[in-house]
Amino acid sequence: MTDILPIEITPISQSRINEVDFSDLKFGKTFSDHMFIADYSDGQWHNLQILPYQPLSFGPAMSALHYGQAIFEGMKAYRNTENEIVVFRPEANWERLNHSAERLCMPSIPKDIFMSGLQQLLQLDAKWVPNKDGSSLYIRPFMFATDEYVGIRPSDNYKFIIFTSPVDAYYSQPLRVRVETHYTRASEGGTGFAKTAGNYAVALYPSKIAQAEGYQQLLWTDAKEHKYFEESGTMNLMFIIDNKLVTPSLEHATILSGITRNSVITLAKEWGIPVEERRVSVAEVIEAAKNGTLNEAFGVGTAAVIAPIIVINHEGTDYQLPAMETRVLSKRLGKALDDIKHSRVADTHNWVYKI
Ligand code: PMP
Repeated sequence: MTDILPIEITPISQSRINEVDFSDLKFGKTFSDHMFIADYSDGQWHNLQILPYQPLSFGPAMSALHYGQAIFEGMKAYRNTENEIVVFRPEANWERLNHSAERLCMPSIPKDIFMSGLQQLLQLDAKWVPNKDGSSLYIRPFMFATDEYVGIRPSDNYKFIIFTSPVDAYYSQPLRVRVETHYTRASEGGTGFAKTAGNYAVALYPSKIAQAEGYQQLLWTDAKEHKYFEESGTMNLMFIIDNKLVTPSLEHATILSGITRNSVITLAKEWGIPVEERRVSVAEVIEAAKNGTLNEAFGVGTAAVIAPIIVINHEGTDYQLPAMETRVLSKRLGKALDDIKHSRVADTHNWVYKI
């Protein structure tokens, strides 16, 4: 357990919750009553506050807007079978945020500030955590540079904020995806492993082209040769080939180290399923799709948890993957994670953090 720090709380005068239609939530458009905010200046974090969710004001020269020192995280709170609020592996998000911070020359955020802010914010906005199946409270911690200065150098001042947003289940339909062999998301030595704003900005244009062609997501490939799979949108990629779980490894530091990815690999290994974290070539997966040994392909991430892939397009050809009824392993993984998050089974890995 981390220490719980004192936070100055200014509660909202009237909750907005009655204005929200919880039966029809649009992803990422509804925000709960409060946010947690902390300031960094003179080499330290201070001024820990919980305020009503509200606009912030900055000068036009604020450095994050120009040079992209901006990092974020994404995680979810659920209600368990006892109606308690739980968050899935928040300490892993805290660690990853600091990993991103280091690459972007930003200050690390102490664990007690991150966890105290999270805990007290969720306690105050507890009624915003939905209890409908599949729904959750999406949590967005983020940090950005606030120096008013047009020169390029690491900022001296930062803000760290957490706000939350109630959401329904993310994807409903199996995905049609396209292998990207021209544009690049990240390269070795770059920022692919960090959860930083620029990585998402560079992905927008290629994704828009793919969407216009009828594919909901891209499968990114390596920047050097476009021969090896990387990840997809906001998900890590997994293939079941010949009953083995095969997934791109993290060793080239070009993909995000997903917390869902790590959880899925942990469970699969415990169940005795062979897991291979390695370079996964496009040629190998297309060959497996052709000869019938590609049992499944799916994305894994906080938003969708498991997002099955039904069609992979490569260089103009659509490869149809096995029907959803045959997706035994990904369904088992999805159910196991859901059961852990809602405390329907014992939390043997210590993944569930009670608020
Ligand atoms: N890759 C990218 C680029 C992402 O943005 C995300 C979402 N955070 C993931 C993978 C999946 O990570 P996680 O399982 O931690 O949500």
